[in-house]
Amino acid sequence: MLWSERPRLTRAALLAAVLLVLLATAPSAEEKQLSVYGPQVSYSLPVSEHNGQDYVALLEVLEPFGNVSAGAEGEKWKLRFNRVEAEFRQEVTVGKVAGQKIGLPAPFVLENNRGLVPLRALPTILGLMLGTKTEYHEAARRLFLGGAATRFTSDLREGGLSLNFSAPVNPLISTEPGKLKMTFTRDPVVSTAYLLRPENSLVSLIMFSEDNGQAELVVQGRMPLLARFAADRKTIDIVPAPGEAQSAPAAETAVAVPPPPTLQSLTAKPPFVVMLDAGHGGDDRGALLSETLEEKAVTLAFARRLRNELQGHGIIVVMSRDADVTVPVEQRAAMADASRVAVYLSLHAASQGRGVRVYTAMLNSQSDPPGGFLPWNTAQARYMLSSRALADIVKAELGKHEIPNSELPAPVQPLNHVAAAALAIEVAPSGADVASVNSGVYQQRVAVAIAEGVVVGRSRVEAER
Ligand SMILES: [Zn+2]
Repeated sequence: MLWSERPRLTRAALLAAVLLVLLATAPSAEEKQLSVYGPQVSYSLPVSEHNGQDYVALLEVLEPFGNVSAGAEGEKWKLRFNRVEAEFRQEVTVGKVAGQKIGLPAPFVLENNRGLVPLRALPTILGLMLGTKTEYHEAARRLFLGGAATRFTSDLREGGLSLNFSAPVNPLISTEPGKLKMTFTRDPVVSTAYLLRPENSLVSLIMFSEDNGQAELVVQGRMPLLARFAADRKTIDIVPAPGEAQSAPAAETAVAVPPPPTLQSLTAKPPFVVMLDAGHGGDDRGALLSETLEEKAVTLAFARRLRNELQGHGIIVVMSRDADVTVPVEQRAAMADASRVAVYLSLHAASQGRGVRVYTAMLNSQSDPPGGFLPWNTAQARYMLSSRALADIVKAELGKHEIPNSELPAPVQPLNHVAAAALAIEVAPSGADVASVNSGVYQQRVAVAIAEGVVVGRSRVEAER
């Protein structure tokens, strides 16, 4: 018998089951999870590893959406969802979904009659089975279906911060001294702005990040903070905690709650943060590197590898984009400046040439103009020495890793506008084969070398901030 029907679940029972899965998996930091956000239902599922690759059980992924059944037939494992079929074979990297042949990045795994597919293939498989648009944030394991997204804006005034969401949200809120953390597991909260360091008497930092099927919004205060939900759960007001009237000196309130660390470091330098700006994205595809390879995809994949490497060295990283979205060039520079990053790396890819080209802005170095304002067009001028020094160091590290490299000044946007050590890095193929520019092994080698360059160059960059 081909199709072994699973016991049918009512919609309510199913939702309850999904909730139970959520409750069971959400808080564990160690366990890898995937979150799927659909227009009607959002849920999380455990992710398992096989041969170093992430997998999910396809039947469990589809269950919340409708009738699904699956079973083995000889060598084949077949799944039927509503009227759509999928077919895979144990240890084979090709499958058939909705009549279409698809390649898998790793072999299909059949384990205790559960068919497991590589996580990286899931967006394609679900897109075909559900007939919907998918957007996958791979590094964070968050999969958005049919354009599901909750966006937010922040309205910061003296004495209060309002976060306004496009749909009701239910974050888990936790507080640490001087810090308020909102964790979104079931809400498809997304953002392109990642880090803000406002000049404000109440709030010193607003940071959005996503990881392991969750999104996190951290607000750091210059005094203890409290979050208040509006009745529609679309607005969260962040205000001083009771007894924290703005006129009260912080020292006197330290009895109840330790003052935030920022109080001691208000006059100190902002932390060492590296911004990775994956070139192009969304409507802007960048160069067509080969018939099928778009620059915007290569820059994002490379940015994620470089982020991992830098984070491995304990460096804080912010990204101008972590998805295939359009971000105007001026906005990228503005994000770097608003986040007061120490290093800004604009990442590009090319089909011509070999190895890595490192660019610095075409400006003469200059000291601060009278009045202390940095003119927007030449914000980079003050950092030129720092940028060139970092370029030299990165170039040397690439050389140590035997990656062909060159260094040159060029009018690459938006380097001139960035008030930080700023480089543009263009990754070209490792050899004659253009596709090598998208090879994981090669990208990893380049990422390791550049991350080491940043580590070595850090003290030099810090000296000029
Ligand atoms: Zn480019």
